[in-house]
Amino acid sequence: MEREVQRVRAAFGSGRSRPLTFRRRQLEALRAMVQERERDILAAIAADLSKSEFNAYSQEVITVLGEIDLVLEKLPEWAAAKPAQKNLVTMLDEAYIQPEPLGVVLIIGAWNYPFVLTIQPLIGAIAAGNAVIIKPSEVSENTAKALATLLPQYLDQDLYAVVTGGVEETTELLKQRFDHILYTGNTTVGKIVMEAAAKHLTPVTLELGGKSPCYVDKDCDLDVACRRIAWGKYMNCGQTCIAPDYVLCEPSLQDLIVRKVKEAVKEFYGENVKESPDYERIINLRHFKRIRSLLEGQKIAFGGETDEATRYIAPTILTDVDPETKVMQEEIFGPILPIVPVKNAEEAIQFINEREKPLAFYVFSHNTKGPVGWERITENTVSILFRISVPVY
Ligand code: NAD
Repeated sequence: MEREVQRVRAAFGSGRSRPLTFRRRQLEALRAMVQERERDILAAIAADLSKSEFNAYSQEVITVLGEIDLVLEKLPEWAAAKPAQKNLVTMLDEAYIQPEPLGVVLIIGAWNYPFVLTIQPLIGAIAAGNAVIIKPSEVSENTAKALATLLPQYLDQDLYAVVTGGVEETTELLKQRFDHILYTGNTTVGKIVMEAAAKHLTPVTLELGGKSPCYVDKDCDLDVACRRIAWGKYMNCGQTCIAPDYVLCEPSLQDLIVRKVKEAVKEFYGENVKESPDYERIINLRHFKRIRSLLEGQKIAFGGETDEATRYIAPTILTDVDPETKVMQEEIFGPILPIVPVKNAEEAIQFINEREKPLAFYVFSHNTKGPVGWERITENTVSILFRISVPVY
């Protein structure tokens, strides 16, 4: 590992990753890889997650191609020096801010969208003129293999190296000094990464998980809300970082939500979800058993079927869920939607604020202002507030 990092660092030291023309050529080569080897990439994702070509293309490939195009368009502007305001001390100087590459960047990818979650940070790192060590997730082993085979065929092999392997290899990698670490994955490992980075004072970007709640107000378009919840929850079999994790709503809405989510599932996946080419499988047996165990002792209002041999778990809804049970203690990361009844929006806010910060928060309401306290959650959440008032999908 040490030698590999040294090799990449020496390539960075040569200065060849810096010129904009070089960065552009590497990004264009990456785009060529995605376009020319699309079939290999889609096949690898299918082997890992039983994902249809359409889903893999629309969820992973399009994002990567769009990102490359955006970066190619914006790069001259982003990389250009920007004038800095002068003060008494600098008034006689030429003062400007010049973006500079950091050096050698480590990218540690996750398995749930194994292509885009590894390539997207790579695009940014190349665009900024860095050298990169790419460590795809070993859990999505087919995509990891495809990346290890394809990337060296298209990119500068000394500047951009793929290291495959699991905990042991990543632990070894993390002992090395990097200039930035981009990690996507769970919080527990996020802490390990941050601790390792701290030893070298290396800055980190951690893309972590969490329990992202939905609040369904009684004043909302319930058809639209339930369609969107079903889409976000069951896409990739629930294995999405910003998937709606659970629903908070007034008790009287529970049965309606179950009925409407059920209708949406039928529309999206047909009568027999198990046979649908659009419905994925759980990545491995460990995660399958973990998710199945979350059903124990719960009231299953819809779904609940599992098949260990194919790692199938049906789109499932649990009602009257006790917040103290296991399903409400950890990120579900599977196709199980618990509904926790609350009295009103105020109680929903309190419920969310008493827990770890969610990654996203989805509000379905016609009430544009929201009750007092709403902003506190939205400020705390990393990304999203969706207010649904438009009755179209
Ligand atoms: P994972 O098991 O693939 O682990 C992620 C990476 O960490 C892998 O490359 C793995 O080799 C490495 N790793 C695992 N254990 C390690 C250890 N002990 N020491 C060092 N490295 C180790 O993926 P995961 O963690 O199961 O991913 C799912 C999580 O990622 C969920 O919590 C999800 O919400 C989150 N996620 C977040 C985003 C985001 O953009 N915020 C995107 C996708 C996934």
